[in-house]
Amino acid sequence: MSMSIHDFPAYRGVLEYVCLQCQARYPQDELLYTCPDCGGVFLLEDSRQESLKELSGAQWRERFDARAAVKRRALRGIFRFYELIAPVLDEQDIVYLGEGQTPIIPSSPALNTAVGHTVAMKNDGQNPSASFKDRGMACAFSYLQSMARANDWDQLLTICASTGDTSAAAALYAAYVGAPLTSVVLLPAGKVTEQQLAQPLGSGAVVLEVPGVFDDCMRVVEYLADNYRVALLNSKNPWRILGQESYAYEVAQWYDWNLSDKALFVPIGNAGNITAIMSGLLKMHDLGIITALPQLFGVQTAHADPVFQYYRQPPESRSYSPVEVKPSVAQAAMIGNPVSFPRVRTLAERYEQVAGDGSFQVVQVQEQAIMESMLLANRHGHIACTQGGECLAGLLRAKEEGRIDHKTTAVLDATAHSLKFIGFQDRYFQNTFAPEYGITPQAQWQNRPETVIDPEVKNRLAADAFAREAAQAVVERLGLEGKED
Ligand SMILES: *Cc1c(COP(=O)(O)O)cnc(C)c1O
Ligand SMILES: [Zn+2]
Repeated sequence: MSMSIHDFPAYRGVLEYVCLQCQARYPQDELLYTCPDCGGVFLLEDSRQESLKELSGAQWRERFDARAAVKRRALRGIFRFYELIAPVLDEQDIVYLGEGQTPIIPSSPALNTAVGHTVAMKNDGQNPSASFKDRGMACAFSYLQSMARANDWDQLLTICASTGDTSAAAALYAAYVGAPLTSVVLLPAGKVTEQQLAQPLGSGAVVLEVPGVFDDCMRVVEYLADNYRVALLNSKNPWRILGQESYAYEVAQWYDWNLSDKALFVPIGNAGNITAIMSGLLKMHDLGIITALPQLFGVQTAHADPVFQYYRQPPESRSYSPVEVKPSVAQAAMIGNPVSFPRVRTLAERYEQVAGDGSFQVVQVQEQAIMESMLLANRHGHIACTQGGECLAGLLRAKEEGRIDHKTTAVLDATAHSLKFIGFQDRYFQNTFAPEYGITPQAQWQNRPETVIDPEVKNRLAADAFAREAAQAVVERLGLEGKED
């Protein structure tokens, strides 16, 4: 029987965990998280990837384009790019909750003018738990489901530390998959938004609060992973990185596989997302699916900028050190010691080898600029969260510093939905930021509901008299003119 595009893909790869520190390799069928030999972080590599070159770049492009019309659930989301992501999973294990295939919205002409650049936002907040983390979780949970089935496990506890969105995603996927998987999330007390806390609670996860910041939670989780049988869902988990590569594949496909005139902006927290995007771009380039790599910009707030601090040093003498974070409105990226830093270092080197010096850069932005960039974008019809605002602030900074070609289209990663971080907007509008944020709200960016009519009037008048009175108040507020007939 011949294969059709509507069948589940036949190709099976052989994935191996590759330690970025000691180069040790481990087979895919172990639940590994860091290297047992040296503690280094892993990337997963398909040791059969060369055989994918039996198809030309053009044939792969055609296959992925054709697959966009396929109605099989398992191929509707990130696994449209199955062969590039985790081609070891069986169809029955793939979890699909509608993640991926998020739209890229070109900015309005007015916003392009305001920014002085052609801009587009990829709305990753339009994922099921409203952030890009669902991409990685879909892959990690598909893998866990395959492991639980293959090993006949009757219980598997998943655990993660989180700045909010990882736990929302983990809890959602765990709730869907159900037994034998259960989910526990560790959050830094008071350091996630109300909405982000509500999400895992609503999904029924056990939510444990730890005093401190994300980095403190991470240390607790690492201790647990080293000493107990739990499945770790932090971005040290390389299966998440594979799923998050889908972002790069989708951007390429959206632009008809031509990224030569694009610049991608990505906020950096734990650095899993930028790792995945670089890895995905390099994979497509290696297979001839794209022939030019885009310029890639990581963006960090001055309040949590260890990756920026590393890359600002001259290449010969760079040294990495974690930083102490200060409160940031880009709270999902407020991380002083990103676990994926070694991955970034490795991949950025490869990236620059292929695309040239300066093809990967990191820019630093101020808190004030993050807030006002977010408000600017959203006043032009976007739905950016603070981290999406951080990307726009990064573009403005890169322009100021002359680091970006004016002919490119800047594609900004709007990593979560604005509603998840809406409390920061409230603080800006109501001027209630604690001084550590270093934000002074400007009247031009504030917005508040206005009272048009005294509530007393409502009590005094009958319904239709009140309606006339209230309408009159609106007329005055807006300076409306009557219709002439
Ligand atoms: C997790 C997260 C980030 C940071 O991504 P990393 O992979 O940790 O660098 C940025 N924005 C949002 C909304 C996030 O949830
Ligand atoms: Zn190692």
